[in-house]
Amino acid sequence: MKRLSLFLLLYAGLCMTVTAADAGVPARFAPWKSKIEKLSGFEKHVIIDKGTERPWSGKYVNFSKDGIYRCKVCGAALYKSSDKFDSHCGWPSFDDALPGAVKEVPDADGYRTEIVCARCGAHLGHVFRGEGLTPKNTRHCVNSVSLKFTPKASQDKNTVNENNTTQAKKQQVDTSKIAKAYFAGGCFWGVEYYMEQIPGVVEVISGFMGGKMKSPGYYDVVKGDTGHLETVEVRYDPRKVDYETLAKVFFEIHDPTQQNGQGPDIGSQYRSALFVANEQERRTAERLIGILEKKGLKVATKIMSATTFYPAEEYHQDHYRKKGGTPYCHRRIKRFD
Ligand SMILES: [Zn+2]
Repeated sequence: MKRLSLFLLLYAGLCMTVTAADAGVPARFAPWKSKIEKLSGFEKHVIIDKGTERPWSGKYVNFSKDGIYRCKVCGAALYKSSDKFDSHCGWPSFDDALPGAVKEVPDADGYRTEIVCARCGAHLGHVFRGEGLTPKNTRHCVNSVSLKFTPKASQDKNTVNENNTTQAKKQQVDTSKIAKAYFAGGCFWGVEYYMEQIPGVVEVISGFMGGKMKSPGYYDVVKGDTGHLETVEVRYDPRKVDYETLAKVFFEIHDPTQQNGQGPDIGSQYRSALFVANEQERRTAERLIGILEKKGLKVATKIMSATTFYPAEEYHQDHYRKKGGTPYCHRRIKRFD
């Protein structure tokens, strides 16, 4: 009898959770309201209320096709199939996520680390380290129900673009609302730190641009002869913030007059530059440099054409958020009225 009442209590609790999620879309998911509304009660239970699907029940546990796993809510690319491994734990497991795609937060239970989609905050699962299951020693334990798989043949190589099904075309419209801008202003840790604070910026990724070498790593670029600049990719919602605002902040958080370096970091990889993707961005950059020069600044910042952006290693992403502290080489100085 006792056991039955406990069961009923648990059952009632589950129903209440699902009902609460059905009642409305939480404010944090407002930009994805239409997606959230289409989720099933169980999907809401996992993605919004941070529930867990039963082990071995998810569609991607025993699944090994080549492709990308995306967030079911916002479509952000989260995991590559090449990082998936068989952990025998009953949930899809990955030993790495795509750079900047997954955010780690302390779980409400006080000991585990929760993982959420960095773009929309959808609950994915938990991350565990030190189990020794793969050389990366990391297990992203993810609910299948939080994911949507895109097979390789239909994927765009670099970005979060979708395949050509009708459903995917709809998602492409969503992701295409996110624009990208590229700035180099010395050590990318500091530039990322400040650009991420701009309202309307969805995320900032530290990486490299402007050199000849393909897929450079930090230790290639730090030698100073690959031609790359430490660069950030700023992903922003153009309905909320424009390129000019981003470029102004860029000029205000570093010293655009310093030649061949920034602060204590000297070398060609730390040069100041705006990598423009179109004429409009170029004209904005030229106009802002003109304003600074009128104020007497001898601007060293170069305007260059955007080329392939290579994200830096995961340990360079969100440096100050992970390690704490504030940038050593960047601070904000008001330069525009
Ligand atoms: Zn998402």
